[in-house]
Amino acid sequence: MSERRTAIVTGGGSGIGRSIALRLAEDGFATAVLDLNEDSAGQVAEEARQKGHEAVAFGGVDVSDRAQVNAAVQRVRDTLGGPVLVLVNNAGVTGFDPFLKIADETWDRIMAVNLNGPFYCCQAVVPDMKEAGWGRIVNISSSSAHSGQPYMTHYVASKAGLVGLTKSLALELGPAGVTVNTIPPGFVDTPMLRASEERGLLGGSVDHHAELTPVRRPGRPEDIAAACAFLVSEEAGYITGQVLGVNGGRNT
Ligand code: NAP
Repeated sequence: MSERRTAIVTGGGSGIGRSIALRLAEDGFATAVLDLNEDSAGQVAEEARQKGHEAVAFGGVDVSDRAQVNAAVQRVRDTLGGPVLVLVNNAGVTGFDPFLKIADETWDRIMAVNLNGPFYCCQAVVPDMKEAGWGRIVNISSSSAHSGQPYMTHYVASKAGLVGLTKSLALELGPAGVTVNTIPPGFVDTPMLRASEERGLLGGSVDHHAELTPVRRPGRPEDIAAACAFLVSEEAGYITGQVLGVNGGRNT
């Protein structure tokens, strides 16, 4: 990359977001590791710096709070040197409830983090991208948005919303040189997946599901990071509004 660019990865302290943050830092982006969790964000930024890359933690930021998002994005500009030209909306929360038992508070929280969060983050950084005439947004959705998933109506609806946001924003921002794409991961071995396994919500162990996956293994966070690294690269400039499934062939 000839020009130094600033990138924000939300939920960058754990799992998929951690791998994406480490990979973008390795690829030369000045990387903001933004997360609700202060400790994990700090650890990931430190890990990147130990490898000689540029990364700063912005912990304690809740993407579902517009004021917190705006303040954090301004701190990113001030600390890393704006404008913010890459945004990866990865922070997400899951849920598992029979449809008739979904409480309003549960529905609202999942929508607030998984859909309002990307909405607020995009609105905070798109002016930078439009002014620069260049930008890359990658939204981490879920393969469940395409297949459906019982007992996860709230989560799947939020992720399907994120796919719609991606497609519409891509059409609107294309003329400004900004691409917007989504990666729906499927079955990636992260703390979120292991927590679901421990609670018996996967309908079998991770190993059992790996056996049923065409490539015969669970996904690795690095698999998603590799796809993300491509989508934010210069050479992916003609790819926008697309859904790039990374799921070992579980969904084709
Ligand atoms: P994870 O290990 O739970 O990591 C999610 C990170 O997001 C955590 O660091 C979490 O912080 C942070 N976060 C949660 N709510 C936040 C908020 N309101 N504001 C800022 N940060 C917040 O999950 P993951 O498996 O890596 O998942 C990453 C993304 O991929 C999610 O959007 C998820 O829905 C999606 N996805 C994952 C899979 C999979 O198989 N793993 C499949 C499909 C989609 P805390 O530590 O404080 O909770």
